[in-house]
Amino acid sequence: MLSDWLNLTLDGSESGAREGRLASGRYVIHRPGILELVPQESRSHANACVISAGIHGNETAPIELVGDLLARLEAGLLAIGAPVLIILGNLPAIRTGQRFCTTNLNRLFRRDLAEEGDEPQRARELMATVDAFYGRHPQPRLHYDLHTAIRDSRYPRFAVEPFGDTATRPEQWRWLAAADIQAVLHQHQHSWTFSHYSKHYHQAQAFTLELGKVRAFGDNDLATLQPMRALLEALIAGTEPPATDPGNMIFFRVAHELMRESEDFALCVPDETPNFTRFEVGTRLARDGKAGDCIVSDAPLAVVFPNANVEIGARAALLARETRPPDD
Ligand SMILES: [Zn+2]
Repeated sequence: MLSDWLNLTLDGSESGAREGRLASGRYVIHRPGILELVPQESRSHANACVISAGIHGNETAPIELVGDLLARLEAGLLAIGAPVLIILGNLPAIRTGQRFCTTNLNRLFRRDLAEEGDEPQRARELMATVDAFYGRHPQPRLHYDLHTAIRDSRYPRFAVEPFGDTATRPEQWRWLAAADIQAVLHQHQHSWTFSHYSKHYHQAQAFTLELGKVRAFGDNDLATLQPMRALLEALIAGTEPPATDPGNMIFFRVAHELMRESEDFALCVPDETPNFTRFEVGTRLARDGKAGDCIVSDAPLAVVFPNANVEIGARAALLARETRPPDD
C-alpha cells in the first residue's frame, strides 16, 4: 500500500523495488526513499515534478506533508496527472532525528563530487535518479526541495532561488505567493544544493522552500502549510495551481556569504537571531582567527541561516539586502 511506504521507509523495513496501482495511475518504488508517481494520462498543465523532503534529517514538517499527499492519493481524493518523483533524502539522519550523520548532504550535489562516505553516496544516487527521471519525461521541469529552518524567521515561510542561467518564470512567483510563501532570497552564486542541481544541470524551475521551523514528528503545525499543500496537489494533479500577486512577498538578494575560515570563529549575533534580522552599518557580525572581523558596511544587511557550528570552509551565514520584486 502506498500509504505504508513512508512508515516502512522510515523504520527501515521497506523491502526495495516494487510497484502498485492507483485509480489514476501507478507508483513505482525505485530504491529506498525514492518513489515515482506515473499518471495514466498526463494533463495539459503537467510539469515533470521532483518533490523532495528530508535532505536534512531533522526537518520533519515536509515529510509529514508528503505523507498527507500520499494518503490523499491512496484515498482517491487526489488524482495523478503529472509525472512526479518523491524523494526522502537522508534516511539514516531522518531515522535518528539529526540534520545529517557525517556531513551536510545539501552541499554535495555536483557532478564532479570527489568525496566518499554515506552522504556523498546518497547524493550520487539522488543525482542519477533525477537525471533519469527528467530524461524520461518531456514535460517542463520543476523541483521543489522542502525544508524547515533551524531558527525562527521574520518570514517563517520563504523560498531560496538558486543561482543559475535559467530564468524563473513569472508564474512561479504567483504560485509561491498563493502558497503563502512570505519572502524570497535570490542566491548570488552557485551553491551545490539539491534544488541548484536541477536548475543548473536540467534547467528546471527550482527552489529550496523553507516551511517554518525545525520540530519533531507530531509537533508540526500543518495548518499553516495548507496553501503549500494546495500548490503541491495541483502539481501532482497536473492542473493549474492557485496564483496571486507576488507583490505580497518581500524579495532579498544575497550580498555576501560569511564563511568560517578557522577553528577560532564566533558569530557576534545572538544564537537565536531570527532569519532576516536586519543589522545596521558598523555592526560586527563575526570574528574569525584567519579572516578577521566581519562588519556591516555600505548599507544594512539581513542575516539568514546563521550557524557558527559549521565545518571549517563552510558557510556560517548568508548576508542579504532587500531588492525589488522581479518584473513580469
Ligand atoms: Zn534544511
